[in-house]
Amino acid sequence: MRPLRPIVLATLLLAVALIAPARAEPYSGALFDAHLHYNDEAVASFPVADVLARMQRAGVRGIIANSRPNDGTKALAAARASALTVVPFIRLYRNRADYNGWFADETIVAMVQDELARGTAAGPYRGIGEFHLYDSANANGAVAAKLMRLAQERNLAVLAHVDDAAIDLLFAHAPRARLIWAHTGIGGVPVERVRELMQRHPTLIGELSYRPGLTDGAGHLAAPWRALFTEFPTRFVIGSDTWINARWGDYEGLMRAARVWLGDLPPATAQRIAWGNAAELFGLAEPK
Ligand SMILES: [Zn+2]
Repeated sequence: MRPLRPIVLATLLLAVALIAPARAEPYSGALFDAHLHYNDEAVASFPVADVLARMQRAGVRGIIANSRPNDGTKALAAARASALTVVPFIRLYRNRADYNGWFADETIVAMVQDELARGTAAGPYRGIGEFHLYDSANANGAVAAKLMRLAQERNLAVLAHVDDAAIDLLFAHAPRARLIWAHTGIGGVPVERVRELMQRHPTLIGELSYRPGLTDGAGHLAAPWRALFTEFPTRFVIGSDTWINARWGDYEGLMRAARVWLGDLPPATAQRIAWGNAAELFGLAEPK
């Protein structure tokens, strides 16, 4: 085979450069982890000092802490790590059994009121959740409705692991509540449906852990999500969802993965999703 002439080679290289999308560097700024649990089974394997060190190494400078039971959140709030802002949320679950009946259990309302009155070492609770609704109809449970109205009245954010139908039902109780949608449709709700809900509910925020289809096989941002983030740059946040100990074991890896796809966005949009949107939601200062 004859060697390629230089002009042909140059043309080929240019074509390859044009076809291959530009791969930006991973995002390197501060992160806010908007979906974090420090549950009772994590404490023995990952003591407070250890999880704080993991966050620091990952560049996480702020967190929503929500733990089963709330003691884990209180422990993180009491640690008063200077490099970390803890935004405490009241978990609705005292134990595993509460997952399946909280939406109709009046004792949960009493527990929430009690925790609200007490607060934490890092200040008052700023939100409620994470809660789950495995059947979206339970969004109409008496306690679910009551807690949504309470959140709206007290300006508490709500972290909800629900499907798209439940988003509409929850907002029907409290149209101005600030609702963080855990995973933004963990069942793979189509991006078009997410867009429709974002348009309909101006106080809806999407949290992106475990979101199917967010990235391609190489961990880079998928085109439909890039378009959605460009359209709604102020409406998304990232999270680790440390719901099992394995997630704590790989905490830095999870945050590194987020930095890869954040790096595919324009820097101002990446900064908003990484930190700015959560900071605005909770009135946080820029990290020192
Ligand atoms: Zn969770």
